[in-house]
Amino acid sequence: MTTFPSKAPEADGDERDPSLAGPRSAKTLRSRHAPLSSPAAQLAKLESVSIEGSALDFEAVLAAAGTAGLHPAPLEVFQINLGKLCNMTCRHCHVDAGPDRWDAMMTRDTIEACLRALAQTTAHTVDLTGGAPELHPDFRYVVEQAVARGKHVIDRCNLSVLLLPRNTGLVEWLGERGVEIVASLPHYRKRNTDAQRGDGAFEKSIEALRLLNAGGYGQGNPKRMLTLMSNPAGAFLAAAQHSVESEWKTALQREWGLSFDRLFALNNMPISRFLEWLVDSDNLEPYMARLAQSFNPAAVAGLMCRNTISISWDGRLFDCDFNQMLELDAAPDGRAMRVESFDFAAWQSRRVVTRRHCFGCTAGAGSSCGGATT
Ligand code: SF4
Ligand code: SF4
Repeated sequence: MTTFPSKAPEADGDERDPSLAGPRSAKTLRSRHAPLSSPAAQLAKLESVSIEGSALDFEAVLAAAGTAGLHPAPLEVFQINLGKLCNMTCRHCHVDAGPDRWDAMMTRDTIEACLRALAQTTAHTVDLTGGAPELHPDFRYVVEQAVARGKHVIDRCNLSVLLLPRNTGLVEWLGERGVEIVASLPHYRKRNTDAQRGDGAFEKSIEALRLLNAGGYGQGNPKRMLTLMSNPAGAFLAAAQHSVESEWKTALQREWGLSFDRLFALNNMPISRFLEWLVDSDNLEPYMARLAQSFNPAAVAGLMCRNTISISWDGRLFDCDFNQMLELDAAPDGRAMRVESFDFAAWQSRRVVTRRHCFGCTAGAGSSCGGATT
């Protein structure tokens, strides 16, 4: 079992906004012109993996488990990726987000198209993600619009972003609107978190959690829900969510006097910067074997691609955030679907696009933006 190195490399030198300075442990693939910055190269790398005795054809494995392809369930979650700008550059990031990603930011016109599409759907939740969605200039506008439409709103937050001067008062503002914070924190131990996010990331996370607790988050109030999202610090599967949750609750309370409402334990997906790390550390084949051998048929029904729509910063529609990053567009009739011409009936009648990375969602207890799927 290999884990991330605990010492982070030097910080990025290419960020365009110094106010976004924060901990980071890698540069974006894009800024390094890394071969795996291309989604096609990532898919080809996954296809090149050969594992003796392990079937890596996801559709064939599904079929053997009695499921002929993945088809939509009732739509519940409308997930908008506002862009790839982030104040951090975490080693495991599947988005290749970072402070240099001003190239990938949703326009106001696309936001308006999202709101029109939302009105056609049965989704009860609007899930705002990025990058760091709070850095988008229209973040508060989108939250206001979704709340005005009676939707439950989720802010996928990296914690440290709450400490930036531009976000002073944001916790109270979100709390007043009942926005749920789903905060990523690799681990409650400093070493594991800093290894993925860069030196100093852990202290900033603790400071942000203090801010959230002081603002009434994480105290059992359904209008100020604080969910933590953890992921393994290496090439292994997420531990059992319920036991991790209780371990974290005890540890964060004992060490820091902090509380939260619930915890999601996610598997790392073999794409983007995590894929690069798997390749560089010779972990790709063992990790893919582990994912495939841990296929759990019971995890299939709750896969997020079945009840979620994922919209990219440039208005394209995807089955999930991971397909979005691999540019596997939802294209039931051969043409990529776009939010400006959204057709709910067509969306609900599509077949989900799958590839080998999907084994990351069906391994062990299952893994999704909503945590374990079993
Ligand atoms: S994992 Fe999250 S916080 Fe880290 S770089 Fe990616 S989007 Fe930003
Ligand atoms: S990556 Fe996961 S959520 Fe996305 S299509 Fe594959 S199984 Fe579904």
